[in-house]
Order: sequence, then C-alpha cells, then structure tokens
Amino acid sequence: MDVGIPGEFAPEYPELSGSEAFGGYRSVDGVMGDGHLHRALLRALADRGIPIRYDSRAVDLVTDQHAAAVVGVRTEDGAVLLARGGVILATGGLEADAELVREHLGLEDASIWGSPACTGDGLRMAQRIGADLWHTDNMMAVTGITPPGARHGLFAMMLRRRGYIWADTNGERFVNETAPAGHGQALIDGQYRLKPDRPTWVVFDEATRRAGPISPDASVYPVGWSVVMDGYAWSADNLAEITAGRVLRAHTIDELADAMGVPAPALGESVAAYNADCAAGLDDRFGRAAATLDPLAEGPFHAFLSKPVLAWTSGGPRHDEYARVLRTSQEPLAGLYAAGGVSSTYSWANDGGFHIADAIVFGRIAGEHAAVRARQQSAATGAGVH
Ligand SMILES: Cc1cc2nc3c(=O)[nH]c(=O)nc-3n(C[C@H](O)[C@H](O)[C@H](O)COP(=O)(O)OP(=O)(O)OC[C@H]3O[C@@H](n4cnc5c(N)ncnc54)[C@H](O)[C@@H]3O)c2cc1C
Repeated sequence: MDVGIPGEFAPEYPELSGSEAFGGYRSVDGVMGDGHLHRALLRALADRGIPIRYDSRAVDLVTDQHAAAVVGVRTEDGAVLLARGGVILATGGLEADAELVREHLGLEDASIWGSPACTGDGLRMAQRIGADLWHTDNMMAVTGITPPGARHGLFAMMLRRRGYIWADTNGERFVNETAPAGHGQALIDGQYRLKPDRPTWVVFDEATRRAGPISPDASVYPVGWSVVMDGYAWSADNLAEITAGRVLRAHTIDELADAMGVPAPALGESVAAYNADCAAGLDDRFGRAAATLDPLAEGPFHAFLSKPVLAWTSGGPRHDEYARVLRTSQEPLAGLYAAGGVSSTYSWANDGGFHIADAIVFGRIAGEHAAVRARQQSAATGAGVH
C-alpha cells in the first residue's frame, strides 16, 4: 500500500467481474482522519434519542427458554439487556485476541494496527450458541514495526528513497519489495500472495535513513492506534528510533548481520546481488522496477525486523443477506444479526473502503430486519413498539 492522495486508489483486483463498480477511496473533503463518519453516526444516535452504554462489555447472548431465539445480551457486570427485535453483533474482528489469532490465522506474536477492543467477542458468543463460521483465516496485514513492549504496530514504509531490501531470517532476499500489496495481497509471479507473509528484515543504507522517516506521522497518514490514539510520532530522521534500539545500526553489512542474528555471508550476498541489479538497472530475480533500484551504497547500514501488523480480520459468524446469523444447519439463529468486522462479507479480495461499507450496509439491513421482527412480535402479543 502506498500513501497517495485520498481518493486516488484504483481497483485492486481489476480482473474480477464487478471491479468496475469500485468508485475510489474517498475521504470527506479529501481529508483523512478527521472523524467525520464518527460524528455523523453519533448525530444519528442523538437525533433518535438512542443512548450509548460505554464500559459495558457483552459477554453472553441470552436466549429464550427453548434456546430457539436470542432475546438479549449479558454484560460483564452481570446486567441483562433485553432486545425487542434482536441483537446485532458489531463487535469488530478477532485481531486483538492472541488465542484466536493463533487458532484462526496461525500467527504468533502478531501486533495490531487498530483497536485493542477487537477481541473476537462476537465470534465467541455466537459460536457458543451454535453459529456457523466463515472465512476465519482471512486477515489484512501491513509491513510494520512494533515499539518494544508495546502491542500496537506502526505502518512502516520507505517514503522517499528506495535504497532498501527485504531479507528473510536467513538473510536472503525473497520478493519484489515494492510489489504493490494493496490490502494485504500482492500479485507475485502471476499469483496473489499475502504480503507481508512472514517476519522480514528491512535493511537500508544511510542515504535512505537521511531521506525521511520510514514510518509516517499523523500529518502524513493519520491512521492506526499508535499514531492516532497513542500519538506516536516517528522521528523525521529516524534517529530517535535508532537510539531507542528499535532500528539496528552498524558500520558494515557483516556487523549488521551479526546484530540481526542472520548469517553474514547470506546477507552480504543478498546486498551485493541487489547492488549489482541496481547497477544493471534490472532485477531479473524478483522483477523490481528499474526506477526503484537504489543501491545500498553508503554506510552505516540499518535494519529492523518487521512482523505482519494485523489491520483487521474478516471472518466470523456466517450470516445471510438479511445479516441473520446462521446455524451450522444454515437455518437463521432467530434474533441474532452480524454486521461489519465481526463477520465481513468480504474475503481475501477487498478494496479500500469495503470494510466500513460492510459495517454500514449490513448494519442497516440488520436494523431494518430486526425492526420488522419487533413489530411482528408486538402485533402478536398486542404490545406497542417504542
Ligand atoms: C488502521 C486501519 C485502517 C483502516 N482503514 C479503513 C479504510 O480506510 N476503509 C475501510 O473501509 N475500512 C478501514 N479499516 C477497517 C475498518 O476500520 C473496520 O472494518 C470497521 O471499523 C469495522 O467497523 P465495526 O463497527 O464492525 O467494528 P469496529 O469499528 O472494530 O468497532 C467494534 C466496536 O465493538 C466494541 N466491542 C468489542 N467487543 C465488545 C463487547 N463484547 N461488548 C461491547 N462492545 C464491544 C469495540 O469496543 C468497538 O467499539 C481500517 C482498519 C484499521 C485498523
């Protein structure tokens, strides 16, 4: 993913039918991170007199006496909130729960880019009462770096100069580092592949270090928990992070390899081969574009270990076109709905903006369906709907 002007994204899967419907990736007035959407949603609640209960974590779904329908939720403090039309799960993904991440994504020690509240509660609650699940192995991750001891990753990228390579934990280059990864996947050797898909050493030279910050601050890209909520601002010359030990620094590639704990001959060979590609203007092993081939020429040299930083997950309780959660028999679980990150309809191929769209579209569909259900139930019992 490259940071461009908001609104300038092209469809990421142009070969798929329907891709022409992608209208771009818009921010209100072209400004990212201004909270316009959040304010609009708060206004909609205020206009309807709907209260928000903060610090009120739902832990269980309450069913009727025959376990035939969901009639409410139980919160952590033991309160039971009853629903007239149904419960709509909108608890976000599972990316902030280490156990679910290990189980469904097969990742250890993943850090997260977004909210620590996305702990898969909706999935667990729905699964306990018999919901079917879908595409729970889906994720979107970015190349990033996590400050020591912190749970939140930063989106890291080279903004201004391309004098860097990616090396695996054996010190070997393995991919076209600049292949556009869109929302988590890149077209590599004719196939879509997860990118990033493994712990990766990002190795760069002094000219690249000087050229600008390797991770954007809020003035450039106001996105992600570390930047927006914790206010982390990466230093303009990367020196603060080098001093803090987040980025390793050494006079020679051999010394750098030692600090990284990778075989020095392999890293030396990777850098030498890449520099030869730069001189020839052709990366015939991985196909990196000639315009991006800046050599690692000037010491000291630098490296940081980037593990995939999880942005979001898409899988969760399976639902139908009315957002009704389905049992494993594919019958609707009466009174239970799901919308947004808890169970996105999008799977691997997603464009920018799809996920918020899923939350809004299926949230609305679920609300309408639940409202009809509430009316029907009131009519059946003779009670009014409020
Ligand atoms: C860095 C980053 C950038 C992104 N950029 C984009 C983008 O540009 N476009 C786009 O479409 N999508 C983007 N996404 C994805 C998008 O943010 C999510 O898909 C979207 O927020 C999902 O909305 P949601 O309401 O389903 O869940 P969330 O926004 O995750 O909200 C879930 C809410 O549920 C609450 N909650 C969780 N568990 C419980 C519980 N047990 N009881 C009560 N409440 C609970 C949480 O506190 C939270 O408030 C981005 C995500 C990240 C992390």
